[in-house]
Amino acid sequence: MEKRFETKLLHSTKKNQREIKSKVMPIYQTSAFAFNSLDDLEGFYQGEGNYLYSRVGNPNTDELGQAVAAIEGAVSGIATSSGLSAILVGILAVVKSGEHIIAADDLYGGSFHLLKEELNDLGIQTTFLSFSDLYQVEKSIQSNTKLLFTESITNPLLRVEKLEAVSELAKKYNLVTLVDNTFATPYHCTPLAKGIDLVVHSATKYIGGHSDVTAGVLVGRESLIEKARTKVVNLGANLSPFEAWLTCRGLKTLALRMKSQSFNARKLAEALRGNSHISKVYYPFDEDESGYGAMVSIELSKEIDVSTFFKSLSWVKIVPTLAGVETTVSHPITTSHRALPPEASATLGITKEVVRISVGIEHYEDIINTFEQAIQSAIQLP
Ligand SMILES: *Cc1c(COP(=O)(O)O)cnc(C)c1O
Repeated sequence: MEKRFETKLLHSTKKNQREIKSKVMPIYQTSAFAFNSLDDLEGFYQGEGNYLYSRVGNPNTDELGQAVAAIEGAVSGIATSSGLSAILVGILAVVKSGEHIIAADDLYGGSFHLLKEELNDLGIQTTFLSFSDLYQVEKSIQSNTKLLFTESITNPLLRVEKLEAVSELAKKYNLVTLVDNTFATPYHCTPLAKGIDLVVHSATKYIGGHSDVTAGVLVGRESLIEKARTKVVNLGANLSPFEAWLTCRGLKTLALRMKSQSFNARKLAEALRGNSHISKVYYPFDEDESGYGAMVSIELSKEIDVSTFFKSLSWVKIVPTLAGVETTVSHPITTSHRALPPEASATLGITKEVVRISVGIEHYEDIINTFEQAIQSAIQLP
């Protein structure tokens, strides 16, 4: 029988989607998946693959989880709605109410709040300590401690964590280690190769790389990732197919971007080290001196007017995030580290003169000139 108008609106496409061989993964912008028979449906529950419902699993989010797992050297990975939700499900895969975490005291602000407020309210306590002193960390391990949590490169002063030592300590006490590898990326550092158990990314940053998505990824051992996957499903922390697709598109150029951005960052750090109006340049080098990432932090000397400096940066925008292909600056003390008590920020060395630079893929000479000019314009006359 010929279908009526209303029915044609819904049921006129030919069912040959499986025959279409697109070069790149299409976007499976669907909340659920169809089955040909009850046997097929039962097959899903018996673990025969395929998909059921996008909160439970989707080809695009799986592609992202698997791609990051592959470059981090992990067996499994899972994509989530943000870096913070990846951290949350990573923690909940290991720690439950009544148990204890030891975390670095210079963690990303959002991670700090998650631990200090939300998880604390749920009965999970955290001790915050400097991981530069692992002896203190060891002394703070309690009988209910389950997890050590730190970052491979910290924000904004770019301290490089000694991950082998952290993992050794954890193994001695049978603790799980979680490392936020957002700043370093697997281009520079693969924590799992150093014995770390779980690695998390704010894919909003370098993994995506174009400042157009909010996403997270958690990778590690299959058993831990499967526990985290259950948390994603139960908490609704899944990533949307379109954002997963965009992040996968960005990920393809991670090596090209990091190569260019790290090269530019090193050139900028070298130029600014020679500038007498800058009292400190924070930029870590690795053993072969090829540089360690694309973030540079500087401390302006007292004769520089901080707000004039920020106003004089021409095409370099003030943006409280990082890792896009454009060079941007942020002012940690009034943004990411705003909530820190003044004594804590003073102890950490995060003063109002500290500027964090996320170096992009422009020509390095233009980047250097723009910063040198801004410094020149901001010199205060005595
Ligand atoms: C941005 C960031 C996060 C949080 O990621 P979101 O995607 O914003 O949730 C966590 N850790 C680090 C180091 C970050 O820079």
